[in-house]
Amino acid sequence: MADVKGVFVIGETAGGQLDAGSKELLAHGRKLADSLGEPLSIAILGDSLGGMPKEAIAFGADTVYGVTDPVLKEPQPDAYLAALTKLAQERSPKVILVGKTPLGTNIGPRLAFRLNTALAQDSLEVKIDGGKLVATRPVFGGNCVASVACNSMPMMAVVRLKTADPLARNDSRSGEVVEVKPGLDPSVVRTRVLSHVEEKQEGKRMEDAEIIVSGGRGLGGPEPFQKELTELADLLDGVVASSRAAVDIGWVPYAYQVGLTGKSVAPNIYFAIGISGASQHLAGLSGAKNIVAINKDANANIFKEARFGIVGEWQKVVPALIQAIRELK
Ligand SMILES: Cc1cc2nc3c(=O)[nH]c(=O)nc-3n(C[C@H](O)[C@H](O)[C@H](O)COP(=O)(O)OP(=O)(O)OC[C@H]3O[C@@H](n4cnc5c(N)ncnc54)[C@H](O)[C@@H]3O)c2cc1C
Repeated sequence: MADVKGVFVIGETAGGQLDAGSKELLAHGRKLADSLGEPLSIAILGDSLGGMPKEAIAFGADTVYGVTDPVLKEPQPDAYLAALTKLAQERSPKVILVGKTPLGTNIGPRLAFRLNTALAQDSLEVKIDGGKLVATRPVFGGNCVASVACNSMPMMAVVRLKTADPLARNDSRSGEVVEVKPGLDPSVVRTRVLSHVEEKQEGKRMEDAEIIVSGGRGLGGPEPFQKELTELADLLDGVVASSRAAVDIGWVPYAYQVGLTGKSVAPNIYFAIGISGASQHLAGLSGAKNIVAINKDANANIFKEARFGIVGEWQKVVPALIQAIRELK
């Protein structure tokens, strides 16, 4: 077994490309690796990897384990788990980071169990403190955040997406690509993907939007989402989102929800209209650069987090904003 050393990121792919979440994970990993003074590696799995290893190096990796096997054609959790367990046992990383994606949340705890270690779930921030991985994560339904230090090796965390910006791409970075052939037995895969059904996506994905116009219970009904909020979002080339209250009442579908139990977003501007700013809502906004709050209650919690605030009834403020933007355009 090799020395226990380095930070190891589990990469994910989409349509033959390294996905955006893996680049964010590399940014987290780079920070940890620099704190430890140790290398950053990433495992990329598939039946063939194309230009992905070079891309991972350009986004901060020192070493890429290019793990190829016919069984890895689909990002199938059982196959990933078998290959990653073997790789982690051979390479003995000190830290392993997994993205909070459907695949990552599936394989993270299973990998930790196989490596006989613990795992910090749903981490918003990761750092090295006194040589230990310390993860900050929401607890008690998002009302508090706890810092947990990992005491067993390897130190593992599942990290929420949109909690770091990818590093600037640098194609002149150099790194090592190690080809790994795990020789997987097809019997490791205990479930089969019968078909893929793509969720219909109209317009931009909320997770990629630069401008989000979000509404809450204060809007008073579903109509403003379709009318004023959509008009404002269209003018700014943004997307419409909501608090959980608006979803629970049935004004908008769950796909709109931002927060602890909804999506994490990282727009440049996040309009929070008729949203009080509960901690569970703010949990999805840690990556938002500027929050613009519109609320009739000057004491609403959202104003503590907002860069710009307008105290007033949305029925007056939002049409005035739309009018002003139209004039500017
Ligand atoms: C385990 C758990 C998970 C949760 N996960 C999430 C989550 O993922 N996302 C989420 O959003 N919440 C989540 N919640 C719910 C959260 O605690 C809040 O209940 C919710 O965010 C409140 O939504 P809101 O701000 O729209 O409504 P409210 O808190 O009711 O706030 C409405 C706001 O509108 C303002 N307002 C009213 N009328 C007007 C007007 N005419 N003009 C301008 N402002 C007006 C009010 O002053 C008020 O501030 C979760 C809760 C729990 C317990």
